[in-house]
Amino acid sequence: MKRGTGQDRSITTRWRAATQAVRGGTARSDWGETSEALMLTSGYSYDCAADAAARFAGEQAGMTYSRLQNPTVEMLEQRIALMEGAEAARATASGMAAMTAALLCQLSAGDHMVAARTMFGSCRWLTDHLMPRFGIDVTIVDASDTDAWAAAIRPKTKVFFFETPANPTLEVADLTAICALARAHGIVTVVDNAFATSALQRPMEHGADVVAYSATKMMDGQGRVLAGAVCGTRAFIDDVLLPFVRNTGPTISPFSAWVVLKGLETLDLRIRRQSETALAVARAIEARVPRLLYPALKSHPQHALAMRQMAAGGTIMTLVLDGGRAQAFALLDALELIDISNNIGDSRSLMTHNASTTHSGVAEPERIRMGVTEGMLRLNIGLEDPDDLIEDLDRALKAAGL
Ligand SMILES: *Cc1c(COP(=O)(O)O)cnc(C)c1O
Repeated sequence: MKRGTGQDRSITTRWRAATQAVRGGTARSDWGETSEALMLTSGYSYDCAADAAARFAGEQAGMTYSRLQNPTVEMLEQRIALMEGAEAARATASGMAAMTAALLCQLSAGDHMVAARTMFGSCRWLTDHLMPRFGIDVTIVDASDTDAWAAAIRPKTKVFFFETPANPTLEVADLTAICALARAHGIVTVVDNAFATSALQRPMEHGADVVAYSATKMMDGQGRVLAGAVCGTRAFIDDVLLPFVRNTGPTISPFSAWVVLKGLETLDLRIRRQSETALAVARAIEARVPRLLYPALKSHPQHALAMRQMAAGGTIMTLVLDGGRAQAFALLDALELIDISNNIGDSRSLMTHNASTTHSGVAEPERIRMGVTEGMLRLNIGLEDPDDLIEDLDRALKAAGL
């Protein structure tokens, strides 16, 4: 495989993110194909036995086994790192594989971590169930309360873990303040950036150490494959993360990596258009919904902070109705265009009742403390015509008595 056209053109860091999304990391075979090749292979062959030995000894460049390296996966990893402004990245089979690896690769029994209360349901399963089983203490804080992060620090605190905006309440955490606090105490920040992606927010520019992704969401962007990624310094990825993922095997399939590579080409275009549509939809329905959470609306509790950290409001908003589950279900069941689906980041608009789907695994008292109420509906805005979405919501709001 050649990079770019002979030289290492495709891994230049000079290009801006939207260019990296199309070009970054491209490695061409001798055929000179313009679109990235899909290398479905689990193994690699060697010209002679000594080459195999040299490759395993790290003395010869090249690949040995697709749990460790794969050309298509490597293109995706370099592209994601270049878009993020990170030194390196590792792709994983899913977002949860990325989160689990990013945490477990650096935490041991006796360590302590601080994590945000409002997170994706499975991320809370990691903090509430997995970590304690391995003797890792977790303190849960409200992500938007920077003082709470400071108060939670102990001598053994190794990691801060949070998402911003958070799923599904769209609570925004102050990246600069929390990352500076962590740095001052030698704590590693792990930021789940699935909602914003590098197209809207680059946490490392605010001091984050590790950025982890569900690439299933906006990065694929068309609801096709599961994928994840962890970005960090070269030393973190090579020395801390790689030994963990290479030996435990949360490896992405080359096929899924290829699909995400294709998705990234249009990430910038999609997220800007979907954010514009989301803002138009939010403005159109705001007055009819008791509470509408969307970072680009002035009514969002951390609107000013969100707009400092993010280039736009993103593709997701959350409606909070007063009539509980019955009213939320009535609205969902009256939708004709928007699908009832718990996924996000798709080019199709999707809506879900989080309390009974994505967050049904979180114990009810904690779910309520997170703000995931029975009247809450999360709306992922896709690429449809904004007027069709507004008409569909108009009908569904009426059906729900709004
Ligand atoms: C979906 C999601 C995840 C998990 O990603 P998968 O690809 O489904 O494993 C983690 N964090 C956030 C914020 C998500 O939205």
